[in-house]
Amino acid sequence: MLLIKNGRVIDPASRSEGALDILIDGEKIVRTGTGLAAEGAEILDATGLIVTPGFIDLHCHLREPGQELSETIESGALAAARGGFTAICPMPNTQPVHDNASVTRSMVDRAKAVAVVRVWPIGAASIGSKGEALAEISAMQDAGIVAISDDGKPVATARLLRQAMDYCGPLGLPVIDHCEDVSLAAGGVMREGPRSIRLGLKGMPAAAESTCVGRDVEVAGLTGGRLHIAHLSARSSLELVRAAKSKGLPVTCEVTPHHFTLTDEDVQYDTRYKMNPPLASREDRDALIAGLADGTVDAIATDHAPHEAALKDVEFDRAPFGVTGFETAIGLGLELVHAGKLSLLRLVELFTTGPARVLGMQRRIAENEPGDLTIFSTEQKWTYRAEESASKSRNSPFDGREFRGGPAATIVAGRIAYQRNGTTDAHR
Ligand SMILES: [Zn+2]
Ligand SMILES: [Zn+2]
Repeated sequence: MLLIKNGRVIDPASRSEGALDILIDGEKIVRTGTGLAAEGAEILDATGLIVTPGFIDLHCHLREPGQELSETIESGALAAARGGFTAICPMPNTQPVHDNASVTRSMVDRAKAVAVVRVWPIGAASIGSKGEALAEISAMQDAGIVAISDDGKPVATARLLRQAMDYCGPLGLPVIDHCEDVSLAAGGVMREGPRSIRLGLKGMPAAAESTCVGRDVEVAGLTGGRLHIAHLSARSSLELVRAAKSKGLPVTCEVTPHHFTLTDEDVQYDTRYKMNPPLASREDRDALIAGLADGTVDAIATDHAPHEAALKDVEFDRAPFGVTGFETAIGLGLELVHAGKLSLLRLVELFTTGPARVLGMQRRIAENEPGDLTIFSTEQKWTYRAEESASKSRNSPFDGREFRGGPAATIVAGRIAYQRNGTTDAHR
C-alpha cells in the first residue's frame, strides 16, 4: 500500500482542487479523503506539492527497435518518469516500421519487462509508412496500439487518409497526422521568414503545415472518424482546428513545449534547434499559448525525439529533425502559469484529461481508478542538465535552463517510478 499525504490534489475531471490524501493498494486507488491512515502503508509526504492524475504523453519516439544508440524503451521510459509522465505513446517510425502486430507485441512485451511507465504504442497508418496501402490496423489494435499515424511524414494522400479514417472510426481509434505538405516544405530546415534569410538556411513556410491541416479537416468531415493533429505549430493551422471544432467535427490537436516556448528568432547554427515542424514566428507562438488557454488545443505532447550525438553533431542542413522533451515539459508548462498566461488547472488538464480524451479514455482521482499519479512542485528551483538526462540522447535546446517547479514523484500502477531527491530512480 502507498499513502500519499498532505498534497494539494488537482483533479480536472471534477474541476476540484484541495487538500486530499490518496491511498493506493495494488495497482488501484482504494480511498481518498483527509487525514487518512493505513497500517503498514508506505507514506509519501506531498506537503507543498501538487498531486494530479498521471500525465500522458501522446507523442514520443523511443527508437526501439532499430536505433537503440539514440534511445530504448527502457531509457525513454525512465526519462519519461523523471518528467512526470505515467504513460507515453511511441510513434511507429522505428526500424523496421511498426506496421504489424508482431512489432506491437514485441514492444508491449519489452515495455512490460523494462519500462517504469506505461507504454501505449501507436501503429503505422500505412505499410512501411509508405503512404500506399493501409497497415494491418485491426490486428495491431488487438495487440495493444492506441492510435495510428505515419508520423515523421504526413498520411500521404487525402484518399489514404479517408480510407484510414473510415477504417478506424468503428474501431474507436484516432488517426494522428503529422501535417506537412512535403512539396511546399521540400528541402527546408527551419521556418521560412526573416530569420531563415539572415541565417542563409532554407525555410519552409507556415502554409506547408496549414494546407495539410486544411486537407485533413475536410477529409474528417467526409468520414466521421476522429482526427488528431500532431505538434501543431502555426496560427493558421490553429484557426482551422478552431473552425472545425465549432462545426462539431471530431478534430483535436496537440502542441509541444518547444513550440509554445521558443520561436524562429531563437534558432542558431546549432542542431538542437532543428525539429519538424520548425520553431515558428512569435505571432504563431503567441497564438498557440492563447489556444492552450482557451481550449482549442487539447493536449501538450513532447514529440520527444532523441538522436545520438553522432547524428546531431553535423552541419545544420544534414542533421536529423528532433529534440528531446520528456524531462523539461512540466517546467516549460509552469513558465506559462507563472507568467499568468495559463491557469494551473488548465495546465494539468493539458497533461492528463486532455490527452486521455484524445485516446477515448478518462482520467480522474477516485476509488477504483488506476494508481497513476504525478506529483510536482510549482516552486522548487532547479536547472536542467542534458548530460544528467535518463535519455540516451542529449539533443535538448533547454540544456542549462533554470526552472521554477518540476516533477517530484511519478507513480505508475501503485509503484513509485521516480522520486526526486530519492537515493536512485526506483525500478520495478
Ligand atoms: Zn511529426
Ligand atoms: Zn514525432
